[in-house]
Amino acid sequence: MSTFIVMLGPPGAGKGTQAKRIARELGLPHVSSGDIFRENLKNKTELGELAETYMNRGELVPDGVTIAMIKDRLSREDCGDGAILDGFPRTPAQAKALDQMLSEMDAQVDTVPYINVPDQVLIKRLTGRWTCPECGHMYHEEFNPPVEDLVCDNDGAELYQREDDKPETVKNRISVYREQTQPLIDYYEKQGVLTEIDGDQEISEVTDELLSILS
Ligand code: AMP
Repeated sequence: MSTFIVMLGPPGAGKGTQAKRIARELGLPHVSSGDIFRENLKNKTELGELAETYMNRGELVPDGVTIAMIKDRLSREDCGDGAILDGFPRTPAQAKALDQMLSEMDAQVDTVPYINVPDQVLIKRLTGRWTCPECGHMYHEEFNPPVEDLVCDNDGAELYQREDDKPETVKNRISVYREQTQPLIDYYEKQGVLTEIDGDQEISEVTDELLSILS
């Protein structure tokens, strides 16, 4: 029996942070479409170059490309027992493609935690976010600052602000979410797998709630 969990919620809801925590707890791989795109961007692959303009504008990379990338990732051996999906699916076409992929693996989307956070909190969280280019760890200038300004606690690398965490792009990411991803709430509600969680709480409180739902 495999377990596939789809983390749903607006950008800045804490999907990535929570996905990493529950992946560790449940011993499942954390599959983040955004991380895979960023990795490709860093390595200047063809996929990275294709995705770059969309990402920098806060827009979605076209479905065909994104679906093929995730299909490849889920076909790897480490996803045999399931995965925590973070950032995928983001459109109804991606959600349908995922159902199809999983049914070919004799699996299905088991649970969809929907982490809900008000818009004004999202904007504050995203625009204060700084990322380590080496280990990918994320800091927040107000809520979770590094010990030394702009330097990663883990490896001493200089932190940078993701192009898409700049204020003008953040607003666009939120409106893209409302238009293209919000319909998935309905989609998964109809499948009977959606559970709403209040994301405007301490990180560990959200994790505890998630783990109690998933156990
Ligand atoms: P994230 O780290 O999940 O916020 O993703 C960063 C960016 O990568 C997004 O703003 C999109 O440009 C792109 N991206 C990530 N996941 C997807 C997806 N499922 N569909 C389309 N574009 C995506």
